[in-house]
Amino acid sequence: MFESSSGKKLLIGAGLAAVSAVAFYTLSSRMTANHSTKHLDMMEELKNGKVHMKHPEQVEEKISKLISGGKDKLQVVSDFDKTMSRHRYNGNRVPSCHGVLDTSEFLPSPTVRKQQSYEISTIRSKCLPRWTTAHGLLVNCDLTKDKVSKIVENSMIRLRDHVNETLEMLKEKEVPLLIFSAGVGDILKEAIKQRAHLHNNIHVISNFMDFDEEGKLIGFKGELIHTFNKHEVAVHHPEIFEKNKLRSNIVLLGDTLGDLTMADGMPYKQTLLTIGFLNDHISENLEVYKTKYDIVLEDDESFDVFMLFSRRFCKQLLTF
Ligand SMILES: [Mg+2]
Repeated sequence: MFESSSGKKLLIGAGLAAVSAVAFYTLSSRMTANHSTKHLDMMEELKNGKVHMKHPEQVEEKISKLISGGKDKLQVVSDFDKTMSRHRYNGNRVPSCHGVLDTSEFLPSPTVRKQQSYEISTIRSKCLPRWTTAHGLLVNCDLTKDKVSKIVENSMIRLRDHVNETLEMLKEKEVPLLIFSAGVGDILKEAIKQRAHLHNNIHVISNFMDFDEEGKLIGFKGELIHTFNKHEVAVHHPEIFEKNKLRSNIVLLGDTLGDLTMADGMPYKQTLLTIGFLNDHISENLEVYKTKYDIVLEDDESFDVFMLFSRRFCKQLLTF
């Protein structure tokens, strides 16, 4: 096949233009992709099929802001049961803080507690409502302050993998961690003490036991915190939020939809990144969790994803 010199030039020119166009298209599309989820794309750990994001571009935007703000703008708010603690361990369900008390060999079982409370309530009928609550029933168990440590030590409560390392890093970078729990504060603090470290950058809002001078449980302090009133309780603790008001970038960790209200009382929040642990009934709940949480972790018994992000927010990785 012969072609004129000018024809060749045209063909070569057209060919180069086509190659350039393809190259430009590939490059520009990659640039667009990289631009929209640049940080997320760099994290291989997110690509295991169990990390879900409905709007990765929005997550990317939040991550960029959290990285720019660095450790001095950052604070973390976390639920405890099934968020910092594991959902399962060695195939068995891990107890919640209340579950630790319910299953302890050092205390009467909940059934026995109810029977005891019935006997007492018939004697003190005017006090009946007090004994009908789980906390009220505990008052009747001769529970002492000294026993709490032993109860936790002998329990099956376990923290997620790498919670200890994450807490160490937050402590080292002086990032405050507020644990907001509808469980039992004394149990969760003891669990963290025994299974990791309860550093001084950790503050706990929870249901705390009230002991008398002899160390015997006489009730619970303050208002009852349960999963669905975390919002109200948060509003009642402005002093904690005031203390960290310059830390306007917040990472929230939870495992229920009620946990999403934990940062509602924070008046100065600018960027809120929410990470939800979906432990159970995954197929039924995944879509709802994806619409509520920025990032949903499916059946993940570790703190790895949060640690991965925290390292970047605290600029602990030189390569980032
Ligand atoms: Mg929970």
